[in-house]
Amino acid sequence: MKAIAKTQISELLNQVAREYNVLVPVAGADKYAPYTPGIELKLNSRTLLPPKDVFFPQTEKMYKFSTDGMEGSLDSLLTTPKPQLLFGIRPCDVKSIHCLDHVFLSKGFVDEFYAAKRDNTFLISIGCNGPAESTCFCQSMGINPQDTDEVDVHLFDLGSQYGVVPKSAKGEAFVAKYAALFAETTEEVPAVAEFTLNLELDGVSEKLAQMFEHPLWEEVSRKCIGCGACTYLCPTCHCFDVSARVAGTQGFRFRCWDSCMFSDYTRMAGGHNPRPSKKERVRNRFLHKLQYFPERYGDSLCTGCGRCLSKCPVNMDITNIIKQVREVDLV
Ligand code: SF4
Ligand code: SF4
Repeated sequence: MKAIAKTQISELLNQVAREYNVLVPVAGADKYAPYTPGIELKLNSRTLLPPKDVFFPQTEKMYKFSTDGMEGSLDSLLTTPKPQLLFGIRPCDVKSIHCLDHVFLSKGFVDEFYAAKRDNTFLISIGCNGPAESTCFCQSMGINPQDTDEVDVHLFDLGSQYGVVPKSAKGEAFVAKYAALFAETTEEVPAVAEFTLNLELDGVSEKLAQMFEHPLWEEVSRKCIGCGACTYLCPTCHCFDVSARVAGTQGFRFRCWDSCMFSDYTRMAGGHNPRPSKKERVRNRFLHKLQYFPERYGDSLCTGCGRCLSKCPVNMDITNIIKQVREVDLV
């Protein structure tokens, strides 16, 4: 296997930044941000803010329009971004991009705004040799924390160096192009350290299909304050709203992230709301992640990244919900 010394990563990033708009995990902001020489990287764990805004920005202008009497014009604001390189994503966040691909690129529908950024982004991941945080449970969600195939280049953490493995044709070309920075190593990838947070997921989706009216939802939703932090921090949550701004005869349409945990998310014109209380909203969040999405796409909409567990102000914990669901006796 090829390898690069960790001390050479900034040199690699300096070189690739001539070709790509490079996005890196930044320590202080705890999110992905444009690389600049000397910036403090966070390479020991996932970032608090997930990389979903690289492909699906929090707000995004889509169309502009203008009117002139009875005439009108509508122009797309879709642009082709400069090739970008997303460096240092963890296997859990790679899985979240896989989930977003289901939503924005599959079943005969292509979201051109998402596709433009997705097609133009080169992915380099870094594996974890164990749970990076006490709230990590990716392994229970079927993810290998050390490796992933759904990127262009994957880096194994070998201590003082990273093992470099191309995972696509573009990745092969990349490794060949920057070959001067890579050397052969015989070092082995270490064993994965034990996770402290472990779950059994078998049968949960099928069981949830019978629990729509179960009193568990009333009980677990009581403490939720509807802040939406869980959905904004979640790498897979992807709901958005489309709005317009108009000034005189001109305006634009834009989309922005929305949250199913907000009371007006499902409020209709006329005032009817099919999810009028926290019970329906919390139930929807967990059923979407653990039942509806697996039924539609064959994947869970939770990657076990642990972000929502660590930041919910009232300690709502999806792992506890899963455990409670498993304990429910349906007979
Ligand atoms: S972060 Fe917690 S309190 Fe806020 S909406 Fe999510 S579950 Fe409710
Ligand atoms: S539901 Fe929570 S643990 Fe699962 S992917 Fe979203 S933020 Fe991560």
